[in-house]
Amino acid sequence: MRYASSVLDLIGHTPLVKLNRVTEGISATVLVKLEYLNPGGSIKDRIALKMLEEAERSGELRPGGTVVEPTSGNTGVGLAMVAQQKGYRSVFVTVPKVAREKRDVLRAYGADVVVGPTGVSPDSPLSYYGISDQLAAEIAGGYKPDQFSHPAAPASHYESTGPEIWEDTEGRVTHLVVGAGTGGTVTGTGRYLKDVSRDRDAGPVEIVVADPDGSIYSGAQARPYFVEGVGEDIMVDNYDPEVPDRYERVTDAESFGMARRLATEEGLLVGGSSGTAVVAALRVAARLGEDDVVVAVLPDSGRGYLGKIFNDEWMTEHGFGDVLGGTSGTEVTV
Ligand code: PMP
Repeated sequence: MRYASSVLDLIGHTPLVKLNRVTEGISATVLVKLEYLNPGGSIKDRIALKMLEEAERSGELRPGGTVVEPTSGNTGVGLAMVAQQKGYRSVFVTVPKVAREKRDVLRAYGADVVVGPTGVSPDSPLSYYGISDQLAAEIAGGYKPDQFSHPAAPASHYESTGPEIWEDTEGRVTHLVVGAGTGGTVTGTGRYLKDVSRDRDAGPVEIVVADPDGSIYSGAQARPYFVEGVGEDIMVDNYDPEVPDRYERVTDAESFGMARRLATEEGLLVGGSSGTAVVAALRVAARLGEDDVVVAVLPDSGRGYLGKIFNDEWMTEHGFGDVLGGTSGTEVTV
C-alpha cells in the first residue's frame, strides 16, 4: 500500500510546472514551484516542521509544551498543523485587522488565538510581539520559534526546497526568482543552489529577489504596500544580503494583475506574492535565451485572497481597477 504515515510526511516535494501563456514571446523556459500544494497550503509548512523538530532535539520543546508565535498567516497554519501532529498545544498572537477567516483557520486546527490591541508601538508589552514573549515565558513549557531569526528556517530550504529544484531541473536551472519576507526562502534555497552549481560550466545559478515597491530589501525607503508576505521595513536575521545577485522591483498593481492572470490563463490560483515572483521571473526571462531555465517559487494559494485580489470591488476601491482586464468570469442569478 502507498500512503504517508502522517500528514507531516507530505510536506515538501512540491512539483514544478511550466508557464505557457503568460510567457508569450519569451524563449527561456519558465517553471514555477507550487508551494500551495503543501498540506497546510503554503511554503511555511517546511519551516514549521524543521523549527519544531530542532526544538525537540535541543530540548526547548518537551512533551506537554506549547508553541507560541506572533503570526496569523501561513507560518501559523504550518505551526498549528505540525504542533498538533506532534502533540503540542499552539497559541498565536495577532491583531484585530487580520481577517477573521485567517484566525478561524488557526482555530480550525485546534490552535488558540489571542487578539491584541491595535495602535500600540512594536516595543510595547501589549504589541503582538510583546504579548507573545510574555505568553512564551508564562506558559509552562512555552516555546517561541521566531521565524525571523530561527536558523532552522533557512536550513529547511537549504535541505529541501533547494535540492528539489536542483533535482527536478536535472541541474539545468539558471535563475531562481523568489520573494523575501523573513528571508528564509531566499537565504536557504539560494545558498544551496549557488553552492551546488558553483563549478558547473554554465556558472552558478543567479539569485533574483522579487521585491515589492516599498520594501527596503531592494533599497527603497520603506513605504506601505498591499502585497502580503514579502518585503520588509526592517532588516531581519534570516535574510542574508550576500545571497541575492540582484533585485526586481514589482508594484502591487503588477503583482495583483499577474496573480489574476495566473488564475485565468495558467489555471494556477495563487496569492499576491506569487504574482510578484512571476512578474520578476518574466522580466528576467525576457532577457534570456532558449537554454535558460528560470524557476520562480509560488509561496501560497489564492484562496486566502478571494476577498481582496480576486474581488473586483476591493481591487477597484484600492486603485487597482485597471488591472482587472475583464479576466474573471461573471455570475448570474436566475
Ligand atoms: N509569500 C507569502 C504569502 C508568505 O507568507 C511569505 C512568508 N512571509 C513569503 C512569501 C516569503 O517567504 P520568506 O519568509 O521565506 O522570505
